[in-house]
Amino acid sequence: MNPAGDEESRSRSGVRDGRHAVVVGGSLAGLLAAHVLAGHADRVTIVERDRFPDGTKPRPGVAQGRHPHVLLEGGQLALESLLPGFLAQLRAAGAPRVGLPSDMVLRQDERWFRRVPATTHMYTGSRAQLEELLRRRVLADPVIGVLEGTEAVGLAGDASRVRGVLLRDRSDGARGEPRTLAADLVVDASGSGTRAPQWLTAIGAQAPREETIDTGLAYASRVYRGKDGVLGGDTVGYYVYPTPAQVHGGGALPLEDGTHLVIVSGLRGDEPPTDDDAFASYARRLPHPPLHRWLDEAEPLSPAFGYRRTANVRRRYDLPGRRPAGFLATGDALCTFNPVYGQGMAVAAMSAAALRDALADPRRTPTTARVQRALLAASRQAWDISAGADRAMPGATGTAVAGRPVDRAVGWYLGRVQERYPSDPVVGRAFRAVLTLSAPVTALFAPPVARAVLFGAPLPAPAEPPAAPEEQGTAALP
Ligand SMILES: Cc1cc2nc3c(=O)[nH]c(=O)nc-3n(C[C@H](O)[C@H](O)[C@H](O)COP(=O)(O)OP(=O)(O)OC[C@H]3O[C@@H](n4cnc5c(N)ncnc54)[C@H](O)[C@@H]3O)c2cc1C
Repeated sequence: MNPAGDEESRSRSGVRDGRHAVVVGGSLAGLLAAHVLAGHADRVTIVERDRFPDGTKPRPGVAQGRHPHVLLEGGQLALESLLPGFLAQLRAAGAPRVGLPSDMVLRQDERWFRRVPATTHMYTGSRAQLEELLRRRVLADPVIGVLEGTEAVGLAGDASRVRGVLLRDRSDGARGEPRTLAADLVVDASGSGTRAPQWLTAIGAQAPREETIDTGLAYASRVYRGKDGVLGGDTVGYYVYPTPAQVHGGGALPLEDGTHLVIVSGLRGDEPPTDDDAFASYARRLPHPPLHRWLDEAEPLSPAFGYRRTANVRRRYDLPGRRPAGFLATGDALCTFNPVYGQGMAVAAMSAAALRDALADPRRTPTTARVQRALLAASRQAWDISAGADRAMPGATGTAVAGRPVDRAVGWYLGRVQERYPSDPVVGRAFRAVLTLSAPVTALFAPPVARAVLFGAPLPAPAEPPAAPEEQGTAALP
């Protein structure tokens, strides 16, 4: 690949035609990065620790797959631009497409949301189904090969250039010498548990500075089949957003087979339990009696699964440091978010689109550093949202918990946005677009939104959970 200096300026980020790119991790970020690199390299090899399951069974390498995975609009747009027709495939496979806020009963800070017509949609099907569809589509490309059941355990090369990965067959366990797979470019897409910082140190390079914010949020999720398949009437889902004032969150989201994934979350010291009875009574803390009745009558179809590693972690590979050419990080390996904001898959897709654009930019040589900066930029808005919200959560810890002075001014404005979000259609549309990563943060400062935020009083929120969507054109509440 391309060390800094002469070769860097001659090469195109290590993926000159005729070259070999290796992607560590065959999950969403890895598959999408491989798809993009296949347009620039002779050969792309995905190295995956797991063996891929038949169909849509969960697999050990993505333990989070048992929990809800919503695909936000920003991710949908990026996926569709990378793999045209993918969303139609997802719909054809039965993934529910849920309109927000119309299709759901939503609550935040003691306020129910008005169910005004949808301004955005999310897909709520299972993570395993989405990944399987993506895998089938990406691996159909003959340029892309996979080494399953193979673990990357280090990098080959030195501080100036990475020349491959060190691999071990999982069947060997810890025995046996690792073998080297030569590569011109290595992309780390091995997820939040990445060991790449240690691998870099081992070849004499510098590990990235890590920024962390950890609220101690823990999840528990369990599949249920409801008696009517819905939460009453035309409500397809239900969600309570955790906030500093109401730290206990959760809800129920529809899956592709007519079942629902019920999720509960709590902070450090009040983690949701995973034994059956305790899970059900924890879920009863969600403030919605119809949901309690629905749960009483629903049939549990799985045990409850817990998940506790939910810290926001950003690895600053974009900052100056002794880093080798030919090494990039993407997906959760670059930036992991508190999953409660539902952003990781969308950012994996947006990062792949950024990789595509950086490699194809005719105006700039796509050096390793430049491409890495583009990858980080693709996750910046999601980071600002989750880090900004989590800094305010009680008990948050980590190296990036302290905000900058400018965050306080923005925080004041955002506080007013949040007060108006559940009931004001103008503010709601803009905030949803930003939260779903389909509009930039500046959308919150557009004149009609700013007027409502700065000068308008919050509109009244419904006193009861609204049982049905409002008609188009409904003005204020009675
Ligand atoms: C509880 C929970 C809920 C979530 N909910 C949402 C949601 O609603 N919406 C959303 O968009 N995102 C959500 N996410 C985030 C989402 O799961 C990830 O952002 C997304 O999967 C992209 O991850 P990735 O491909 O970077 O890593 P992962 O999906 O974690 O995959 C990493 C891959 O690398 C492999 N691997 C790891 N180490 C090695 C190695 N040394 N050698 C070879 N292979 C290796 C693993 O087996 C795995 O296949 C959630 C996450 C969690 C934890």
